[in-house]
Amino acid sequence: MSQALVSLFHDPGRPMELASVPVPTPEPDHALVRVTLATICGSDLHTVSGRRDAPAPCILGHEGVGRVAEANGLSAADGRPLAAGDRVTWSLMSSCGECPYCTKRRLPQKCDHLGKYGHARYEDAHDLNGCFAEYILLRPGTRVHHVPDVVTDEEAVPLNCAGATIVGGLEAVGTREGESAVVLGSGMLGLYAAARLRTLGYETVAVVDRLEPRLRLAREFGATDTFQVGDMEDGAIGEALTDLTQGRGPDLAIEASGAPAALASAVEWLGVGGRCLTLGYVYPGSDVAFDAQKLVTKCLTLRGLHNYHPEALGAALDCVSATRDQFPFGALVGPTYPLAEIDAAFAHAARGDAIRVGVDPTRT
Ligand SMILES: [Zn+2]
Ligand SMILES: [Zn+2]
Repeated sequence: MSQALVSLFHDPGRPMELASVPVPTPEPDHALVRVTLATICGSDLHTVSGRRDAPAPCILGHEGVGRVAEANGLSAADGRPLAAGDRVTWSLMSSCGECPYCTKRRLPQKCDHLGKYGHARYEDAHDLNGCFAEYILLRPGTRVHHVPDVVTDEEAVPLNCAGATIVGGLEAVGTREGESAVVLGSGMLGLYAAARLRTLGYETVAVVDRLEPRLRLAREFGATDTFQVGDMEDGAIGEALTDLTQGRGPDLAIEASGAPAALASAVEWLGVGGRCLTLGYVYPGSDVAFDAQKLVTKCLTLRGLHNYHPEALGAALDCVSATRDQFPFGALVGPTYPLAEIDAAFAHAARGDAIRVGVDPTRT
């Protein structure tokens, strides 16, 4: 039986363990996929730093693309059976399709029988469940998509987390052509949000962040206006947004930073009847204070979303295929490290100077 390299997370502060494990044969309705590129998400950083709990040991990593090594009856979302050699990406969770969350509530990402990739305890080689490994086992109830040939691994890899979260989140909060939006946070989520909003016909997409290099990127991803927190007072940003929107305030706010002050700013800046989508508070203890009178008197809608309905992944892939000439999605990934240097990759990601650090398990 051949062997595969996997990285195992044990505890915050402890180096990852690199282990060689047997490559399993997929059970019926599963597929074994050779990971060709994975990226370190903000939530992986929360786990490694101890800000949120994970079962341990655990193969982390949920943003990935790869090639099917062995298919055993699992089909793609369009019904095509998977075959060895297919280049694929997959939803970051598997769900049962039958419980009340999967059906009535349309929240399969909260399924009673949820399996999340990159978040499960590793016990033996049948638990190849994360992307920071040479192989991953895809289970029934996972939405798998073929990656179009024109889309590179770099362009595809963060779509099954950040990209689909934005597509699904905007669908949940509702969008209308010609509206104005403010995006708080110019990381992966914020950049996808800016690009997506412009393609949906938003005329004003203002992006707010602490860091000027990220705001420069935001302009490449369709931001019409950018404001640097710290350089400008919150009140001054609010006034500028009001000026940009004919004195009314933005119709839509996307909180994509997880910064405690962001939600308060969104509630402050939104116009009457505005909607706020909040995505960034993915770690416990995210207490935020805001003036709830503004929520009520401005008739605001506040919508949280965690992960996404798996249908959003196909839409995110279509969106990047269609606009890859317009927005430099591939430039958001890298530098990329071999799997054997996973600790160096995490140390780099923690510095915050790259939008996504890559891990390439095919490189030695
Ligand atoms: Zn993620
Ligand atoms: Zn379910």
